Amino acid sequence: MSGILAFALHYEGAYNKNSLGGVSEAARQAQALGTEAHAVVVGDVSDELAASLGNYGVTKVFRARDVPEGLAQPVVDVMAKVMQDNGQDYALFGGGLLGFEIGAGLAARLNAGVTMEVTQVNAVDGKLTAERPIHGDSSISTSSYKDRGIIIGRLNAFDTAAPSGVSAEVQDVEVALSPFSTKATMVKRGEARGEDIDIEGADYLVAGGRGLGKPEGFELCEALAEALGGAVAATRAVVDAGWYPYSTQIGQTGKTVSPKLYLAAGISGAIQHKVGFQSAENIVAINKDANAPIFEYTDLGIVGDLNKILPKLTEAVKAKKG
Ligand SMILES: Cc1cc2nc3c(=O)[nH]c(=O)nc-3n(C[C@H](O)[C@H](O)[C@H](O)COP(=O)(O)OP(=O)(O)OC[C@H]3O[C@@H](n4cnc5c(N)ncnc54)[C@H](O)[C@@H]3O)c2cc1C
Repeated sequence: MSGILAFALHYEGAYNKNSLGGVSEAARQAQALGTEAHAVVVGDVSDELAASLGNYGVTKVFRARDVPEGLAQPVVDVMAKVMQDNGQDYALFGGGLLGFEIGAGLAARLNAGVTMEVTQVNAVDGKLTAERPIHGDSSISTSSYKDRGIIIGRLNAFDTAAPSGVSAEVQDVEVALSPFSTKATMVKRGEARGEDIDIEGADYLVAGGRGLGKPEGFELCEALAEALGGAVAATRAVVDAGWYPYSTQIGQTGKTVSPKLYLAAGISGAIQHKVGFQSAENIVAINKDANAPIFEYTDLGIVGDLNKILPKLTEAVKAKKG
């Protein structure tokens, strides 16, 4: 058998949006190759929830009930076994940090090629190729695979198909986890859903970076965003540090926005951040370093301490509105 295997992440009885995009893309590409797409789910997934992935085009769902959801290594064990037993040529992930981790581990385990941040997949001469933007999104690099290929999408790169009403066959699999895969245990799981914070639809975005100094620094951004009637965004540096939710990250590996105003506070202006908001109508930056790269592309640059400037701006906006 050949085919494409996708991983579907779930939380509280619903699938993650990026996972559904990945599952849908696997099905589209399988159709183009004239083969089948399958999915893997782990943990506590009901028959109904597992079978519902058929809505997005997969014909079979491999379910490993005893394997914890949310950790990468146990899923690597499951996907490697499913691919070895069933002969799928490709694994496809919708994106997100867990997908990156599982995909990288799977590539190492199977000695397969891996491409991350993929924005387009093509079926060419019976094989898949993957396109990913490089050099700050100014060029596209295309990967093909000698043998097996692991394709990991950029967040939101793949569209979720409209549900077809078709159910997938569900097959339970038993997988003996590698000793190193059980070293980490899940203490607590939570998920910040992007939909709760509509930063893509906001006209005014106040974005915070490492210059905020600490997680509580975001209170300054929140106060200004509230006065403006906008939302708060963040850089990857602060998201990775756990200061603010991942769903607010702007840039190459985050969201792309084009608000009326993008106010960047304590952000250096790295190219990977810039590509996420460069089409904003007005870009304003506050940075204490007059040589910060962000000042090269702002409409208005304010050199100074954000701790002093943000509260004053908030007061000024409130006064004007009130
Ligand atoms: C493959 C790849 C993908 C990436 N994707 C993304 C992405 O999607 N989004 C993203 O944001 N980044 C991304 N990055 C990371 C990016 O390269 C930068 O590291 C990151 O954007 C820097 O975040 P920052 O501006 O918050 O922090 P820093 O670069 O540390 O900048 C902090 C700034 O705050 C200023 N500052 C400090 N104190 C104050 C103060 N009191 N008042 C005013 N200013 C102050 C400093 O002068 C400095 O300019 C990616 C990197 C790679 C390699």
